[in-house]
Amino acid sequence: MSHFSGVARVPGDPILGLIDAYRSDPNPQKLDLGVGVYKDPQGNTPILNSVKIAERYLVDSETSKSYIGGHGDPLFTQHLARLVMGADSALLNENRAGATQTPGGTGALRLAGDFIRYCLPGRGIWLSDPTWPIHETLFAAAGLKVSHYPYVDADNRLVFDAMLAALRQIPAGDVVLLHACCHNPSGFDLSQTQWRQVLEVVRERELLPLIDFAYQGFAEGLEADAWAVRLFAAELPEVLITSSCSKNFGLYRERTGALVVTCASADKLVDVRSQLAAIARNLWSTPPAHGAAVVAQILADESLKLVWQEEVQAMRVRIAQLRQGLLTALQPYGLAERFAHIGSQRGMFSYTGLSAEQVKRLRDEHSIYMVSTGRANVAGMDEQRLEYLAAAIAKVSA
Ligand code: PMP
Repeated sequence: MSHFSGVARVPGDPILGLIDAYRSDPNPQKLDLGVGVYKDPQGNTPILNSVKIAERYLVDSETSKSYIGGHGDPLFTQHLARLVMGADSALLNENRAGATQTPGGTGALRLAGDFIRYCLPGRGIWLSDPTWPIHETLFAAAGLKVSHYPYVDADNRLVFDAMLAALRQIPAGDVVLLHACCHNPSGFDLSQTQWRQVLEVVRERELLPLIDFAYQGFAEGLEADAWAVRLFAAELPEVLITSSCSKNFGLYRERTGALVVTCASADKLVDVRSQLAAIARNLWSTPPAHGAAVVAQILADESLKLVWQEEVQAMRVRIAQLRQGLLTALQPYGLAERFAHIGSQRGMFSYTGLSAEQVKRLRDEHSIYMVSTGRANVAGMDEQRLEYLAAAIAKVSA
């Protein structure tokens, strides 16, 4: 008897499939706008200098590979919590907020999902339509009922009124997932006025916000990007925040992130954290140490932190320049207006508004790779080839 004979094959991640197709494409002009990692002008995803400096120090000073605790490296969680909540956060000062280290932002999301499932039974979760595809599968895998609120329509516009109307219909107590900034996949973010309106509905409907904060530093800056997170944390009794160090520290494969929880009292935080440690024990036991030690090293050292802040700023500015550069390159084709949203969207991703058919033609005829939804990784663009890209977009848009 074969135990595995009934195991069916599932399709691979479409984005990973794109990487393979890109790799085997011999066209020297090829452009990878698919996979969601930052790239420098040479097309590499470099290790930040601040990270290299921290790593060198750690290699020499590390004395043990013993486990770190269930909530992770205390120096990391302490500094990361300040990065997210603010250096002078009242919630942290009052012990009403705490961070649990997780394997990346994905680990934080899964820990939040399991926490909701086990500690808040019966609560559903509401995701933006569209959202990062892993949100859909991850929360379903955690056993939650997944529903959606509208966010971007078929004409590639942020549909805020429809979003708000849908949020008003969500059953009290349910969880609403919000992207703190750099909405993935669309790049459309809420204005401060819109965030305040969402806050009021969340408060009225007694919803629990779960804020995915995977791109701190990539929209306006490290502090500015935390504005909505800190507003919600200050105004509401309880908030869940998932933080990732993958993009802003470039630590992708080191799997570094945290779940930050805020509570109405210091005592309740102790209860919640006891549950988180117990749940994490069944997921990954204790989190990986290296990336967290690097982040702790950087954030605890003022001069190294400065080096890092400048590196984050450089990544952010480069992405913004590529957005503007593409619009400039589209101008001769009379397309700057039509694609103006690319200039106002934020973060690495852009819902370009290109159809699946146009995306296919870009790949087949011009070796330009992006996700079939029309999502482009702006950081994958190359200033030297913006004109090539614009010419290709013009051809498939004709
Ligand atoms: N949330 C969003 C919206 C993301 O785009 C990502 C990364 N693609 C993550 C969470 C998780 O990132 P990681 O697990 O690599 O830290």
